Amino acid sequence: MKCGIVGLPNVGKSTLFNALTKAGIEAANYPFCTIEPNVGVVEVPDPRLKQLAEIVKPQRVVPAIVEFVDIAGLVKGASQGEGLGNQFLANIRETDAIVHVVRCFEDSNIVHVSGSVDPLRDIEVIDTELALADLATVDKALNRYRKPAQAGDKTAKALVPVLERCHAQLDAGRPIRALALSDEERALLKPFCLLTAKPVLYAANVDEHGFGDDNLHLRAVREHAAQEGAQVVAISAAIEAEIIELPDEDKAIFLEEMGMSEPGLNRLIRAAYRLLGLHTFFTAGVKEVRAWTIPIGATAPQAAGVIHSDFERGFIRAQVIAFDDFIRYRGEAGAREAGKMRAEGKEYVVQDGDVIHFLFNV
Ligand code: GDP
Repeated sequence: MKCGIVGLPNVGKSTLFNALTKAGIEAANYPFCTIEPNVGVVEVPDPRLKQLAEIVKPQRVVPAIVEFVDIAGLVKGASQGEGLGNQFLANIRETDAIVHVVRCFEDSNIVHVSGSVDPLRDIEVIDTELALADLATVDKALNRYRKPAQAGDKTAKALVPVLERCHAQLDAGRPIRALALSDEERALLKPFCLLTAKPVLYAANVDEHGFGDDNLHLRAVREHAAQEGAQVVAISAAIEAEIIELPDEDKAIFLEEMGMSEPGLNRLIRAAYRLLGLHTFFTAGVKEVRAWTIPIGATAPQAAGVIHSDFERGFIRAQVIAFDDFIRYRGEAGAREAGKMRAEGKEYVVQDGDVIHFLFNV
């Protein structure tokens, strides 16, 4: 699962992406990931891992990871092939969610592509490009499926009315994500990878003093996002870039001076993880305490399959302890004695923070 970072030029995308990459993992520890230059694989900061490790005292602790893709080059006219145009849009298609960076800082030294700082106008420019690209995709699909639909083709007959609704939505300047669609309709649209169907969060790039409501740019982004039901993470790319260069012992002092309890990147990473519809279960053995990533709603066998496909195939049951119980009763033995270890079967929907031991046939 990947999050694409988009935004107009000069809003701070690269600064933010570089900070994320530097905060990122050692590629050697994750041999199963091919890490391309525009992809940053970062750990999901989760204080629960430390709590588990204090009890279990494992040899190693492995956090969950999330991928960010730096998508540079979106400019006005991209859907018409300006700038990197179609290449850029193809890169977004491959992501599962979008972090939209908007400039909410004033700095006369840094040129704004449109001449002034105006995050709502910037958001509209990007949204328009994405909507135009989707409109082209939908038009093409309608041309292709209308005839077969008239001829009685079942898939085409189901698809055409959905595409027509998408067309009307985009024509009205609204994103597909705001369209009420059933699960079946969503599944029908999935192969088209519509850009405006992807969930979005706004990363408002502010300066050192720009985190408050007196930053009118930030306020405007918050109000806009609230209407869309989207989240805003206020972050200063410039400060994050500084923090990441500091030796660990200086980080805490710097953060305290800035009045921050943790780097803003942590908030951004966690928000992106949620935006992707992901959450975490744990395994807690003496060899390894580990956070595993699953889509919200995944069942116990599906969660087992994230560890190993054999675990899913041979799934018998899951022994589950809720995170809070695991901590309260100081580990598995204590939780079991207190009657807090549950045996769950194939239908069980794994909850965020579950500490799980899987039983399976091989
Ligand atoms: P991109 O084109 O969106 O990738 O933007 P960059 O990350 O290259 O940033 C463009 C310029 O803005 C660079 O000179 C950055 O140093 C500067 N910049 C980025 N973030 C901030 C910020 O939070 N405050 C200020 N004052 N400058 C920033």
